[in-house]
Amino acid sequence: MTADTSTSSETSKQQARAHASIKAQLKSATGINPAQCYQCGKCTAGCLMAAEMPLKIHQILRAIQLDQIDKLLTDESIWLCLGCETCSTRCPNEVEPARIIDALREIAAQENPKELPRYINAFHQAFLKQIMRHGRIFEFGLIAAYKLKTGRLFDDVSQVPAMLTRGKLALSPRSIDGIKDIRRIFKACEDASVASDNKSDKGSGAP
Ligand code: SF4
Ligand code: SF4
Repeated sequence: MTADTSTSSETSKQQARAHASIKAQLKSATGINPAQCYQCGKCTAGCLMAAEMPLKIHQILRAIQLDQIDKLLTDESIWLCLGCETCSTRCPNEVEPARIIDALREIAAQENPKELPRYINAFHQAFLKQIMRHGRIFEFGLIAAYKLKTGRLFDDVSQVPAMLTRGKLALSPRSIDGIKDIRRIFKACEDASVASDNKSDKGSGAP
């Protein structure tokens, strides 16, 4: 066996291990087995964003079944989902595609944040920060944080006056009553993520 052949075989083994671990993460985050999807396409037929997604929701499930996970984690399709859950409601086999997309986003943000398109990472971070601070979205703060991170300062600026006059853009934030509980949830997630990183560092023998 040549050196090149053994290197490429080692790379495919590493990829297979990484994919198995991502599948296990998906299973533990959602409790769903993607193999249950029998590709009927009812989810995509009802998806409001299907026309915009390079990969439709049933194709995302198929890519998971075929272990083509890398292309999912760097594709913008998973970030275009609105979370409306129409796909989950329509699925005759209780696959719950919306929950799978949600888990894929988290995995993509953790596994390869640098490979996410910059605008997606910026929006994801700004969105989570708003939820942590107020328990809901404060649109003005979200837009400001997103624009500062991406440098897209004047995109869509012409929409602002109409949004203000129609009361769609509050100028000061309002937190929900249970904000302390929301912050506790964020803290618990952070602690769980640190504990899991420490565990995998020990497992890999890293110093
Ligand atoms: S949750 Fe996402 S994938 Fe499912 S129907 Fe809504 S937009 Fe489409
Ligand atoms: S509706 Fe359910 S079973 Fe049908 S393609 Fe979508 S996820 Fe798969």
